[in-house]
Amino acid sequence: MFYTSTRNKNLKVTGAEAILKGLSDEGGLFVPTTMPTLDLSSLIDAPLSYRNVAYEVLKLFLTDYTEEELRYCVDNAYDEKFDVPDKVVMKETKGDVYFLELFHGKTIAFKDMALSILPYLMTTAAKKCDLKEKIVILTATSGDTGKAALEGFLDVPGTGITVFYPYGGVSKVQELQMVTTKGSNTKVVAIKGNFDDAQTGVKNIFNDSALKQEMKEKGFVFSSANSINIGRLLPQIAYYVYSYLYLVKNKGLKAGESINVVVPTGNFGNILAAYFAKRMGLPVDKLVCASNKNRVLTDFFEEGIYNRNRDFYLTNSPSMDILISSNLERLLYFAAGESDEKVNELMKSLKETGKYELDEKMQNFMSDFIAGSADEEETLAAIKNVYETEDYVIDTHTAVGRAVLSKLEGRLEKKPVVIASTASPYKFAGAVIKAIAPEYNELTDFEKLDKLEILSKVEKPLAVKEIINAEIRHKTVCEISEMKDVIL
Ligand SMILES: *Cc1c(COP(=O)(O)O)cnc(C)c1O
Repeated sequence: MFYTSTRNKNLKVTGAEAILKGLSDEGGLFVPTTMPTLDLSSLIDAPLSYRNVAYEVLKLFLTDYTEEELRYCVDNAYDEKFDVPDKVVMKETKGDVYFLELFHGKTIAFKDMALSILPYLMTTAAKKCDLKEKIVILTATSGDTGKAALEGFLDVPGTGITVFYPYGGVSKVQELQMVTTKGSNTKVVAIKGNFDDAQTGVKNIFNDSALKQEMKEKGFVFSSANSINIGRLLPQIAYYVYSYLYLVKNKGLKAGESINVVVPTGNFGNILAAYFAKRMGLPVDKLVCASNKNRVLTDFFEEGIYNRNRDFYLTNSPSMDILISSNLERLLYFAAGESDEKVNELMKSLKETGKYELDEKMQNFMSDFIAGSADEEETLAAIKNVYETEDYVIDTHTAVGRAVLSKLEGRLEKKPVVIASTASPYKFAGAVIKAIAPEYNELTDFEKLDKLEILSKVEKPLAVKEIINAEIRHKTVCEISEMKDVIL
């Protein structure tokens, strides 16, 4: 298995090389040159285990890793850091709707699923490629990637990590989680801009060849822990496969019968992993792309026009407050019949005019997807509704998915639905309390966490207990234009 770039098809690198680099030199994203096929029946025959599913998926893509190397990565990533036995939970609710809880890792958001393993994949890749330099991870975060990456790389030998987050653009718990990070190789910086500014800033640094040369001379190479890194994307395929196997093994779904998948979407990484699963042969009918009020993707799937020239909103689902969904570029590459030329043309247009339009062929390619959006009120109403009917508390991001499912139900065939539940409600307690117990709106952030424990009947996760008294260690705030200096 090899990887090429969405913007340069002449390139051919191994999995290890793609993971180390993060982003290709000309700014493209790495994509596999062929799509492997899942052996679904032998997975169904085996006992259901998250580690096993993760291994079976990754070995198809990372053929340059030995079995021993991959097992080492999987076993160390998916261990007791997770607070449930099989790393994820399938929560059944009425109407054949399942919430796939992906927030049982260290930082209580789904990013842990991939960022627990990325450092192992990357340090193994460094050994395989005989890399001499120290790896410097640069990450832009809308709130959850940052902390998950910091935890993943914390004190990992041969690495250092710098995270940029939008000042005032993340929840209280998200911010505290990041700024209290320990470790001798971690740095957290607030920038005076939004997530797109942070992400563009990081991408520009990756594309700055003079800077890269200067760093190399000093013994450092950059890599990325954002979902532009293929090493983030591949591990995420595993939980969609797992959820399907779970339904077959426990809920009477017949092998081969399809399901619908709903994914609350920001940078288009999580839903792209679901799309890869489908391409590998997992029986998925529709992929529902759920957006918040920043509905650039909804309009894109409805009209075939991507247009970021619009107002940007800070919403109660901040991890999805994004107008440039980086991973969409990978889908465009496939939609264009693997044409790097076409991708270059669209990306140039996006850079110069803030928008691009698909031709008819590419638009038709998108029929696996169906998109919808939910605003803040609809999001809160979905949390309230699930709480009242199921006695179950979901977070705001997951609620965007639930709300969009209700809106689009009429356009979907009747099938079991899996909603990617991307964060613990504790991470967004302020908005969750507003939805289910507004009488507590005036309490402090920490008091709300206590109330949530009573209302949800779910004990506070360790991640929340830990930050309450932790020391604030990262206080740097910078302008967008200063990002490069901060790194130097
Ligand atoms: C990152 C994030 C998302 C969006 O995922 P993408 O892969 O960027 O589409 C949704 N919900 C939560 C809680 C997140 O942290």
